[in-house]
Amino acid sequence: MQNLDSILSKKLTDRAVKLQMRDRICLESGQANKVIIDGGEYINFSSNDYLGLASHPATVNAIKQQLDQGGFGSGASHLITGHHQIHQKLENSLAEFLQRDSAITFSTGYMANLAILQSLANKGDLIIADKLNHASLIDGAKLSNADSLRYQHCDLIALESRLKKSAINKWVVTDSVFSMDGDIAPLDKIAGLCKKYAAHLIVDDAHGFGVLGEQGRGCIEHFGLSQSELPVLMGTFGKALGGFGAFVSGSKNLTSYLMQFARSYVYTTALPAAVAAANYCNLGIIRDNQLLRRKLFENINYFKSQCVNHKYKNTKIYLVSSNTAIQPIIVGESKKLIDLNRKLKDNGVLVGAIRPPTVAANSDRLRVTLSASHSFEEIDYLVNLL
Ligand SMILES: *Cc1c(COP(=O)(O)O)cnc(C)c1O
Repeated sequence: MQNLDSILSKKLTDRAVKLQMRDRICLESGQANKVIIDGGEYINFSSNDYLGLASHPATVNAIKQQLDQGGFGSGASHLITGHHQIHQKLENSLAEFLQRDSAITFSTGYMANLAILQSLANKGDLIIADKLNHASLIDGAKLSNADSLRYQHCDLIALESRLKKSAINKWVVTDSVFSMDGDIAPLDKIAGLCKKYAAHLIVDDAHGFGVLGEQGRGCIEHFGLSQSELPVLMGTFGKALGGFGAFVSGSKNLTSYLMQFARSYVYTTALPAAVAAANYCNLGIIRDNQLLRRKLFENINYFKSQCVNHKYKNTKIYLVSSNTAIQPIIVGESKKLIDLNRKLKDNGVLVGAIRPPTVAANSDRLRVTLSASHSFEEIDYLVNLL
């Protein structure tokens, strides 16, 4: 029998040899357009805080007030005594904002996706999933007793061929905005195919909610999708809302069903009420503040236009075409990516360095994420460095 440490150390060494070892940087400041690490200041192009709400004064105030009134710990799961009136208020206003019948909150987006697939997709069903879906959707499919097929990324022909298979229920599952590529799934056409083949559509709008659509209602507003066209909508509070937690929205029966049968809802402690209060505050900000979204899209367009002006000479390194806050620059090799990323950091800029297995082999990339909180000067500085 091998000793545990030697088993683990072998796996860690394998990962290090492949240049896939992950590391954590330790922030000494709040999440914002500038952050402090080891006493030094860095411009942050690596967070999902697309509207700059993670450190918003109104949010900080909302969480403080709720702490003063109700303490910190939620004490139990939602179905025991963990469900507070601020959770209920958050769910009600989400449903109203999204123009859906109902919404239910989850502790994280990861858990919401496990909940959806584990509870809805049963034996005899077929899950049909985009190849580049988020890891939590892949893991949710593993937890369900349904069969599962994948289709080439955003490929409607491949999707349709899988939809022709028979099953008790067919579930088509996709991200709206893909987290490592920034492209948007053709949800109007996907919804059309779901209707044609009597399949149910599940969409993870983690990177669309708060950002897409004039009002920030996300992919459903961007594509004008009704509750019957997109019956299972999932979104998170951790990205554009700058908070923490997630939700699923749809019919009353959908949220009641999840409440009864979703194991990652039933068997876990409720989100602290203070966190729900901060999410509630930020929901109000995204609803009432279209200027933030406008500034984000100005920044996205500015970044893209500046990159085009500079014309990268090296054709092996290129900016992927994306119209969202996620702007990947494909580098292709882990070593080159790590070097580039270190050079950016040495010059005071933080950008995500995404390697396999998060993305496919040889598609290692810098993942630039833009926020409404960035200034044009900060973007100029990044583009010049690149
Ligand atoms: C971040 C993310 C999740 C997970 O949400 P958390 O609240 O961070 O657990 C799920 N899906 C996608 C597409 C994401 O980007």
